Amino acid sequence: MRVSLELKDLAKYPFLKESQQFIGASTDTLEQFLSGASGRIAVRHAMERIRISLRMGDRDGSSERIPSDSIDVKLSISGYVLARIIISCATDRALMERLVRYEAERAYTYLLDEDDEKRRYVAASVGLEMGTASLPVVQYVETVAGLHEERWRLINRDVAQGRVTVSPQEMNELLKEQIRVILLRQLPLRVPDKVCSMLELQVGEIRTAYQKTILEQFGAVEEDLFPPCIQALATALTAGTNLPHSGRFALTAFLHNIGMGPAQIIELYCRAPDFDISKTQYQVEHISGRSGTEYTAPSCAAMRTYGLCIKSDGICTKVNHPLNYYRLKKRKEGKKEPTSPSD
Ligand code: SF4
Repeated sequence: MRVSLELKDLAKYPFLKESQQFIGASTDTLEQFLSGASGRIAVRHAMERIRISLRMGDRDGSSERIPSDSIDVKLSISGYVLARIIISCATDRALMERLVRYEAERAYTYLLDEDDEKRRYVAASVGLEMGTASLPVVQYVETVAGLHEERWRLINRDVAQGRVTVSPQEMNELLKEQIRVILLRQLPLRVPDKVCSMLELQVGEIRTAYQKTILEQFGAVEEDLFPPCIQALATALTAGTNLPHSGRFALTAFLHNIGMGPAQIIELYCRAPDFDISKTQYQVEHISGRSGTEYTAPSCAAMRTYGLCIKSDGICTKVNHPLNYYRLKKRKEGKKEPTSPSD
């Protein structure tokens, strides 16, 4: 499929091969590029991209000025590439997920305004066939694997002759998801140690900013506000029950996601009678993403599959993820706080 791409399209969709080719002609090594004036500006672009991804309230991409001259387009694409390099040096899965979510959301915002031909071209570049009102079952299942809303479940879809019917709006949402999945699959990039050393300052700054974002989002850890499933796991742990791997994973990932550091999580595991410091430390760090392992706490649907969704209450009917339960309950509690004794 051939489509005519303008210069600004390369900045809008920096993951296209055409965008990569556009900046790929330089004879400088990455180290030389980073040491030069353009490299320093591109690093600034990259850092801004990462910062936006950390505080993303969705759709931030729409307010961005799209560059249209050759130099600015090059800097913008270089910023995209360097952001991925910096995040790879940070070796934190959570940061990678944030960045790709931002990139997918940003591209999606632009894609909504494109004609069908260009949208189909971008979709094809990430392996999504967008020409019809349906997708082959296998592709559909793969694409929705990370989407937890009930409407995406195959059981709730119209399937005919091996294809799942998808509305135009849903197709756009699937395109966004496909971009996210493909970009995440490419991370972490293999970055030479020397390059990571040159970006040490930026990596440190991003780690600190992320920690701050988590604390702002979730505030201080309040065990009383944990969803019933997580409370049950924590109680079982304290009571000396041997938690299955899925239970340990769900508990650890949840605690990590709400901003508990490895030391605090290990402290919780100390309550278990079979506590083994080195084993626990390894597991906690592994789940916290140090080794590039999936870190996100399981959704309610996954918790149900593992048999870990227990004692669900009224708030559970409004959420599809234990983290959303915690967020919602915190918000409710926060609203109660300022009330006076007379209220
Ligand atoms: S519905 Fe979700 S949040 Fe509620 S107990 Fe089940 S898994 Fe936990």
